[in-house]
Amino acid sequence: MIDAIFDTAYPAGRFDTSLNLIEGNPYMYRFFGSNVYFSIQKIVNADEQKKLAEDIEQCRQNPQLRIDECIHISNSKGGQDCYFLGMKLSDTPDILNITLINVTESKAHINSLNRRLMLARNYLTLNGTAVFVYKPSTNFIEISYVKNEQTAVFYNMDIDEWKAQMYEENRINLEDKDLFDLLCATIKLANESRTVIFRGSIIGDRNRMETYRVNLNIHEYTGDEPVVAGTWAIINPGSNDANSDYFEDSYIDALTGLLNKKAIISYAENAVSGINHDNVALAIMDIDNFKGVNDNYGHMFGDKVIKAVGEVIKSAVGTDAVAGRMGGDEFLIVFEKCQNELEYRNILRCIKSNVHAVYNGQMGDNTLSCSIGLARYGYGPGSTSYHDLFKIADRALYLAKQKGKDRYIIYKPEIHGDYSSKGDNGDIVNISNSYYSAAEIDKLHTLFTRIIVEGIDVIPETLDLFAKALKLDRVSVFYGEGNSPKFTSNYNGSVCPANPIVIKDEKYLGLFNNNMLAMSNVHAIEYSCPNVFNVLIDTEISSTMQYVLRDAGNNVAGLITADIFGIPIAFPKIVTNVYQNMCSIINAVLLREKLI
Ligand code: GH3
Ligand code: MG
Repeated sequence: MIDAIFDTAYPAGRFDTSLNLIEGNPYMYRFFGSNVYFSIQKIVNADEQKKLAEDIEQCRQNPQLRIDECIHISNSKGGQDCYFLGMKLSDTPDILNITLINVTESKAHINSLNRRLMLARNYLTLNGTAVFVYKPSTNFIEISYVKNEQTAVFYNMDIDEWKAQMYEENRINLEDKDLFDLLCATIKLANESRTVIFRGSIIGDRNRMETYRVNLNIHEYTGDEPVVAGTWAIINPGSNDANSDYFEDSYIDALTGLLNKKAIISYAENAVSGINHDNVALAIMDIDNFKGVNDNYGHMFGDKVIKAVGEVIKSAVGTDAVAGRMGGDEFLIVFEKCQNELEYRNILRCIKSNVHAVYNGQMGDNTLSCSIGLARYGYGPGSTSYHDLFKIADRALYLAKQKGKDRYIIYKPEIHGDYSSKGDNGDIVNISNSYYSAAEIDKLHTLFTRIIVEGIDVIPETLDLFAKALKLDRVSVFYGEGNSPKFTSNYNGSVCPANPIVIKDEKYLGLFNNNMLAMSNVHAIEYSCPNVFNVLIDTEISSTMQYVLRDAGNNVAGLITADIFGIPIAFPKIVTNVYQNMCSIINAVLLREKLI
C-alpha cells in the first residue's frame, strides 16, 4: 500500500545532486518552511546526511535505480517526522526526482485511501468495468478500476493466495465454483482467450452476490513476457447488460450526478467516524429563494438551475471534498483534506461567486445566490458525531439565511454560541441593555408589588407591560384545565399553543434550571424533544423563555411562556432576571389564592 501512494503522494520536486532545489511542489514549502527552498539537506536530520549522500552516489552510478530511504526531517513546527524518500535520476542526468511520504501520517493516509476505495467499490457496483492484469513471472493478479482518471486497486497479489482468500471470505457463489476455478486456471495458463460468467462478490458490494463477465485476452507485454489482461464487468442480474444503470439509481442523484442523499450521508458518517476525522468538515448549501425560481420560470428551469449549481459545486471542490444532493435545493459537502479555515473559505467563496453566474441574465434582474453553513470536526461541543456536526452546519446555514442570505458561515462556538442541546443556546441576535427603557422596567417592578398586594387581577396589565418593556411578542400563563392560557398579553398573532405536551415532557423539563428555561433558538431541541419542538414551531415561536409553575406539593402545575416570533434573539440577563422575578411572584400568588 505504501508503494501505491509513494509515487503519487508528494512529488517533492526536482533537485540537483547536491540536493539543491531546482523546481519544487508548493506542498513542500507549506510543510517544511522556507529552509527547503535552498536545499533539502537543511531539513534532514544531521545523522542521516551521510546516508543520503551515499544514496545519491548510487543513483548516479546506476541511473535505472530508484532508492527508497527512510529519513527524519524537521517539519516547519520544529518537530521531527519520519519520511520515506524516493529518489531517482530523471531523464536529464544529474537531476533527481524526489518524492516524500510521511510515514508518521501514512496510517491515516491508508485509512483514507481505504475509505475512498470502498466508495469506488460502491461506484463500481453494476455500473463500471474493472480491468485485470496477470503476470506469469510474478504470479500476481491486479484487479483495478479507473474512473475519472482515478484508479482504485482492489487486489494486487499472488493469484493462488487471492483465489484462496476469495473462497475463505465466501466471495464465490459455490454453485459457480467450477467456473471460477476454470477462470483462475485459464488466467494462469496464459495461452487462451476466453469469457467466463460467474457469480460472486469480488469487487462490488461485499454483501451482495453479483454476476461477473470476465473477458480475458493474452497480450504481449513490453516485448518480453505475455500477460493475461482483460475486463471484469458486473452485469445486472438477469440481464447481460454491463452498462446497467442499477448502481446509478441507488447511489447517484439523477439530476446532478452527485451522490444522492443515502450515499452522501453514508460517506459523511464514515468520514466523521474514521481515523482522519480531525480534518473533516460538513457544509450544507441551500439555494436562496429557489421557490421563486420555480414559480417564475417553471419547474423545468428550476431543475436546470439545480443541475448547474451541482456543476459549480463539483468544480469548486475538485478532489478536496465529496458532494451530494440531500434533496430539493440542498446539498451536503464533506471536506476531508482542508487544513485550515482559509482553505475552506477559498472553496466556499468560489461556490458562492460561481453560483452568481448560473443563468445570469436569464432570470430578469434576479441573480442566483446560495447560503452555506459549515461545521468543522471538533469545533464546538458535540461536534464529534455525524448527527451533531450536521446539526451545527444546519444551524450555521440558518444563521447565514437569517443574516440576509448569499453568504457562508463557518461555525465557531465562540462567535455563534454553544449549540449543545441544553439551556440557553447562545447569541442569535445580541441585544444591549440600552435597548430597554429603564422607566418601563421601573414601572414593571411597581406592578409586581401590586400583584402581591392586590392579587391576580393585576396579572393581565403586568403581562402587557412586560411584553412591551422587554420587546417580547407574547407572554401567556397556563394552568388548570384546558389548553388555553388563563392570561395572555395583548397579541394579534396566532392562537397560543396548547401546553399539556410541554409540561408532561420529562426530558424537556429536565432542561429547566431553577424552574426556568431560556431558549434562544427552539431548533436546539429539534431532535432531543421533538414533540415540544413541534408545538413551538407550529405557532412560529423562534425563541422562548418558559417557567414551570409548581403546586404546594412541588408538582408541575402550569407554565408561563414568553415568546419571540421570526428572528430568534438571545435573551439578555436583564430580561431573564425580570422574567424569573415576575414568574415566581405569579406562582406565589396563584398558590396563595389556591388556583393551583
Ligand atoms: P430559502 O432562501 O430560505 O432557501 O428559500 P427557498 O425559496 O429556496 O426555500 P426552500 O429552500 O425551502 O425551498 C426549496 C424548494 O425547492 C421547495 C420545492 O418547491 C423546490 N424543489 C424541491 N425539489 C425540487 C426539484 O427537484 N426540482 C425543482 N425544480 N424544485 C424542487
Ligand atoms: Mg432554498
